Amino acid sequence: MDPVDVVIIGAGASGGAVAWSLAETKMRIVCLEQGDWQKPDQYPSAGRDWEARQMNDMNPSPNRRARDTDYPVNEDDSPIKIANFNGVGGGTVLYAAHFPRFHPSDFRVKSLDGVADDWPINYQTLEPFYAENDRMTGVSGLAGDPAYPPKQPMMKPLPLGKGGATLARGLDRLGWHWWPSDSAIATEDYEGRAKCINLGHCTSGCAQGAKASTDITYFPLAMRAGVEVRTRARVKEITMGRNGMASGVVYFDADGKEVFQPAEVVIVACNGVGTPRLLLNSKSGKFPNGIGNSSGLVGKNLMFHPYARIWGYFDGPTDGYRGPGDCIWSQEFYETDRARGYLRGYTFELTRGQGAVMAAVHGNAIGMLPWGEEHHDAYRKLHCHRAGMVGICEDLPEEHNTVTLDPVLKDCHGIPAPKITYTLSENSRRMLAHAVARGTDILKAAGAWNVGHESPLQEGGWHLMGTARMGKDPERSVVNEWGRSHDVKNLFIVDGSIFVTSAGVNPTCTIQALALYVADAMKQRLATLFD
Ligand SMILES: Cc1cc2nc3c(=O)[nH]c(=O)nc-3n(C[C@H](O)[C@H](O)[C@H](O)COP(=O)(O)OP(=O)(O)OC[C@H]3O[C@@H](n4cnc5c(N)ncnc54)[C@H](O)[C@@H]3O)c2cc1C
Ligand code: SF4
Repeated sequence: MDPVDVVIIGAGASGGAVAWSLAETKMRIVCLEQGDWQKPDQYPSAGRDWEARQMNDMNPSPNRRARDTDYPVNEDDSPIKIANFNGVGGGTVLYAAHFPRFHPSDFRVKSLDGVADDWPINYQTLEPFYAENDRMTGVSGLAGDPAYPPKQPMMKPLPLGKGGATLARGLDRLGWHWWPSDSAIATEDYEGRAKCINLGHCTSGCAQGAKASTDITYFPLAMRAGVEVRTRARVKEITMGRNGMASGVVYFDADGKEVFQPAEVVIVACNGVGTPRLLLNSKSGKFPNGIGNSSGLVGKNLMFHPYARIWGYFDGPTDGYRGPGDCIWSQEFYETDRARGYLRGYTFELTRGQGAVMAAVHGNAIGMLPWGEEHHDAYRKLHCHRAGMVGICEDLPEEHNTVTLDPVLKDCHGIPAPKITYTLSENSRRMLAHAVARGTDILKAAGAWNVGHESPLQEGGWHLMGTARMGKDPERSVVNEWGRSHDVKNLFIVDGSIFVTSAGVNPTCTIQALALYVADAMKQRLATLFD
């Protein structure tokens, strides 16, 4: 295989951003992705069986989806289960596209609250890259949110709909903060993408192309600028050269053949589980415990966002499944208030209802949908009468929460699978309990007649962070303050693994801003990168 200048592993949220940004250097860049290109006309949103398919081939759990492009995950020792998507676009194919930035305080947790660590960079460092990512992605929202420094969304916000307006009234009655969400969903035609038509079911792919997944945003532009994307290319290991630098990668191609791809620079963008798995699988004489792991921190400090889901039913109609799932956030309880009995905080994302099938399945599960004569009347009170929220809680880094290699489980190429070991902390438990109580207040203030909750949300492991953290001290971090491995100078990581802390918001716009920032740092140092 001809050598390349840069090999990027993973074509998800961060892989797309870094590929696009580096493309202008005209270096020879190859992106290796274990999954396939997407076929939007085959997304569930284009068919009537979308809810059934969300349970099967478009399930967010790789274990349940179980395509040959997925890898299995041993999650027996975790109350929160992994959700991802493996293919061009990565998790952005299935994500809800809720797109909040971190707050400035999120980068200074140690200074402010005496826990975890401060980041080696701050909000101001990332601000221009947040803005660049917003432009590339096409973010809708409303300027002026008092919870944030000034920022300017590209398009008008998503409609609140009946459910959003109902919940906003509840928040108004309590006098609590709410604001239309920033969302990576086009509300107007944007850069060749059609606007959202409120079909719903965004979390099984957007056939309309309104939702910004990187297969339709960054990658087409990166490829036009010369980046090559190779699909069905599953990287087994990053190899070391004699000079102490990474020499390239070994991957399985579409025919299952092992291929060595030599490269001057290796960039890992496989997410908070896939990245530590790959680093730990890349053993050599110099790095018997995995490449770039002299700190011993690769795979440690795994953070999810523990989620509480709180819902209620209303006499008046709500939106059911129609429209993007999240349209409002409340950050009333975002910053630390020690009187609440925990540190840090959470965001409420206000969510619409469910589809017809889930309304029945869930109604049955919570005992509100009896069989027999009353069945249809009861169902009519459930379907399109539900709204609610999730409380997305900041998870603090703890070294005992890990991604390791499973001694037995392997993917279809025989590569050891990741094993998750995770315990919910006492701080998270208290925060979740607070979110359930305050979420119940909101629903009652909005007029809900039957309020319930699930906490922690078992299937909610969709934010994967912290397993190759950034920092200035090589003994306390895996990569430096611009994403370069402390141990191997031509090895970079750009995905959520490098997060120091998790904040109380969805991570993807910060992941992509970081990837653009790392790419920019590389471009500025091109002449002297490996001196
Ligand atoms: C159902 C769901 C809803 C979500 N909702 C939101 C939301 O509303 N807002 C938000 O901010 N985030 C959301 N997320 C999370 C979001 O998808 C992730 O934060 C984001 O995609 C992570 O980006 P990444 O670049 O770190 O990794 P990913 O996007 O996961 O990309 C990693 C890529 O690397 C590939 N890969 C891994 N290992 C290898 C290997 N060895 N060889 C080759 N390729 C490999 C994978 O196939 C994958 O395509 C959601 C996720 C899910 C699943
Ligand atoms: S609601 Fe909008 S963004 Fe979501 S799937 Fe439908 S068209 Fe796409």
